[in-house]
Amino acid sequence: MGIDSKGRGLLIVLSGPSGAGKGTVCSALRTHAPELVYSVSATTRKPREGEVDGVNYFFKSKKEFEGMIEEGELLEWAQYVNNYYGTPRRFVEEQLDAGRDVLLEIEVQGAKQVKERFPEGIFIFLLPPSLDELASRIRGRGTETEEAVVNRLKAAAKELREVEHYDYAVLNDRVEAACDRVRSILIAEHCRKDRL
Ligand code: 5GP
Repeated sequence: MGIDSKGRGLLIVLSGPSGAGKGTVCSALRTHAPELVYSVSATTRKPREGEVDGVNYFFKSKKEFEGMIEEGELLEWAQYVNNYYGTPRRFVEEQLDAGRDVLLEIEVQGAKQVKERFPEGIFIFLLPPSLDELASRIRGRGTETEEAVVNRLKAAAKELREVEHYDYAVLNDRVEAACDRVRSILIAEHCRKDRL
């Protein structure tokens, strides 16, 4: 599924509020859509327990991150809850040129920048079943302080309104169902006449 007849891979952007389950859906996609390539973002956030540098994120100091911005190394970047997050440009471009589909799991401000540069990208917004469910997922993760939880919920309520800028809205009521929906979108996108 990675190569369409123009030879370039598809750029897929997956956004959704913190706690919508993007990480879980991405893990399921790694199993069920192994042909997809996942971009690893740079961030100034501290690693959570179990997170590995270069696998989950490239963990950077503020100074290093600002250097990457200045050098034009990022395809997009944003500040989210007091940290920087950004997508290293070169890897994404190399993979797309090699005909592979690349998935970016990023928040909405970054997605807007990607849309300007890649209007042909596929923009998917993951919806949590409800804000209550979202709150309990973030708290249940147990990785954030209460203050960070409240900040994330505020950001989430604002982010939910951004769904209108996306091509697709995928409800994450069950991870397997959400994963099937994303895969169906990718199959349909590869069949679009205007991509031939
Ligand atoms: P977390 O700290 O929970 O890993 O991520 C916080 C938010 O940052 C999530 O919404 C995640 O999708 C987003 N994010 C992760 N990497 C990037 C990136 O490279 N660029 C942007 N704009 N957002 C990102």
